[in-house]
Amino acid sequence: MTDGTRDGDGTRCVRAGLPEPVPGQPFLPGPVLAAPYHLDPWRGPAAAADGYGRPDNPTRRLLEAAIGELEGGDCRVFASGQAAITGLLLALLRPGDAVVLPADGYFPVRAFAADTLARIGVRVHLAPTVGPYPSFEGVRLVLVETPANPGLDVVDVAALARDAHAAGALVAVDNTTATPLGQRPLDLGADLVVASGTKALTGHSDLLLGYVASRTPDLLDPVTAWRTVTGAVPGAFDAWLAHRSLATLDLRLARQSANAEALARLLADRSDVAGLRWPGLPGDPAYAVAAAQMRRLPGVLSFDLGGAERVARFLDASRLVGAATSFGGLHTTADRRAQWGDDTAPGFVRLSCGVEDTADLLADVTAALG
Ligand SMILES: *Cc1c(COP(=O)(O)O)cnc(C)c1O
Repeated sequence: MTDGTRDGDGTRCVRAGLPEPVPGQPFLPGPVLAAPYHLDPWRGPAAAADGYGRPDNPTRRLLEAAIGELEGGDCRVFASGQAAITGLLLALLRPGDAVVLPADGYFPVRAFAADTLARIGVRVHLAPTVGPYPSFEGVRLVLVETPANPGLDVVDVAALARDAHAAGALVAVDNTTATPLGQRPLDLGADLVVASGTKALTGHSDLLLGYVASRTPDLLDPVTAWRTVTGAVPGAFDAWLAHRSLATLDLRLARQSANAEALARLLADRSDVAGLRWPGLPGDPAYAVAAAQMRRLPGVLSFDLGGAERVARFLDASRLVGAATSFGGLHTTADRRAQWGDDTAPGFVRLSCGVEDTADLLADVTAALG
């Protein structure tokens, strides 16, 4: 196959992880649905790549090759983002280790830390995405989320990695919101990437997926071993669906990001919308770092409509904005995070732009806000 390192994003997404062409075979081979595989009666599992479905699946390996190409590292996929994040933390942290986690990131990670990590004797420090960060002396791992979900703050990964590495700490970046087309944390100096593939990466709101990526076998090997013993693997059909969806990531993100920019400009001009955040908006607190660090901006924005009732009225009146959690899908959705027990204000909304026509979306949101 020709060297694809200079290809653009669209080309890389369309070709990512595909096997060499074989006449009579499809571009993307169908899902291999197998728990056990036939074994060689004489040589056993040594004779073939696949012996049992928990450690081995060829559909999963093609998806891992694809995501690995986009992230610039080796990849292991998991059954969900949470399976990947908790697997990473439990595979790398020992009792007595210290870990720094985002104070304003994905809420279930903090809940898991306060419960499970604290119970096994891991010392947990929380730091806001924009800092200040505690001293990294004696810290084993710093996990950051940038842009953070749901507040969309951004941290300079290269600067943070320099500080952390100087103190001997590892850095993992949750790349869910940005996707590997938005930023490549491993290029910026991170040791590990962890993400949910449930969101924009696959973008069709039809599956759960997570992954860990790294260039360091000493870090990825224990994560792989963890996945094999816990069985936190995605099914072959979900892995195949995810790979199929990855081909359009460039196209989807382009429209989602354009819609987010248009919507951010519209909402910025309204006096009845408070606390608007989108890292691509000049004047946003994250603008400068995002402009320097990110290759493209997410389709997600956040704002405050003042109360739960106004959010409900907005969603009820809108034709195109669906009430749903998660984000990054083809359909525009909005989520009032506080209804999930998150620590956000009652009127705080995370809105995820889909791939609808920009003019239709703007007209619908304008009408629904009244
Ligand atoms: C959704 C999300 C997760 C968890 O992913 P699941 O696939 O839902 O388990 C983790 N981190 C971030 C930033 C997320 O948005």
